[in-house]
Amino acid sequence: MQIDVYTIFPDLVDGFCWFSLLGKARLEGIVDLRVHDVRDWTTDRHRSVDATPYGGGAGMVLRPEPLYAAVEATQPRRPLYLLGPGGPTFSQSMAAELAGGAGFGLVCGRYEGVDGRVADDLCDGELSIGDYVLAGGEVAACVVVEAVSRLLPGVMGNSESAGQESFGAAGLLEHPQYTRPVDFRGLAVPEVLRSGDHSRVARWRHAMAVLRTAERRPDLMKARGPLDEHDLDCLREFDLLRRLEDQLGPGLP
Ligand code: SAH
Repeated sequence: MQIDVYTIFPDLVDGFCWFSLLGKARLEGIVDLRVHDVRDWTTDRHRSVDATPYGGGAGMVLRPEPLYAAVEATQPRRPLYLLGPGGPTFSQSMAAELAGGAGFGLVCGRYEGVDGRVADDLCDGELSIGDYVLAGGEVAACVVVEAVSRLLPGVMGNSESAGQESFGAAGLLEHPQYTRPVDFRGLAVPEVLRSGDHSRVARWRHAMAVLRTAERRPDLMKARGPLDEHDLDCLREFDLLRRLEDQLGPGLP
């Protein structure tokens, strides 16, 4: 998959994306990440990319010319998104959609933002990573690149975990995970996980996923719809139904 990123701090994105599974996916050619330094497309002696805003106000705004020149010269895969707090919030389902395509591009803003013509005309849309303001789009680009890349075939060691994990097909948060040691400072790993009974483990994990989601993310629970027989059976088996009712009251979702 080809991913093009446009930034005035290419080392921030390139460096981050050389580590761990993503770095390995780049070495193996699964992810063809091209990080473009927008300053390479400036034409003045100072390689300037910003200017003061029309209409006045604080700070500087990224000018359109170097961004247009960079995109036109390198012809990124589309869609090309401008990263910005005003866009729709990036989600696991968007990551899955992008992972299913041939590639995409990301434009990183800086300073007070980017000339409006870049969002309206050069790019295909905007993407935000959440309701807060960063100083630049580079961290946001890393978030999007990592979330998409780990969904590509061959990137994650164990791809069957993708459906089970948080925001996956089940519409639930993932169950809690434990590893060695079995007793850590008096805190024991739940007995069921050591039982070797795989179907009981699966039912416990499902019950815990339902419980955690109901407790932490009522919005996801609501979107998933009412509890079904399997949910209720698993919760009852581990005596978790009462805990769920204690949390949410008798009006179960
Ligand atoms: N003045 C702007 C914020 C500019 S922040 C405003 O109030 O909306 C500078 C750059 O950081 C933005 O152009 C964008 O590329 C990036 N950025 C900041 N917050 C972001 C977020 N939540 N998601 C994605 N990109 C963000």
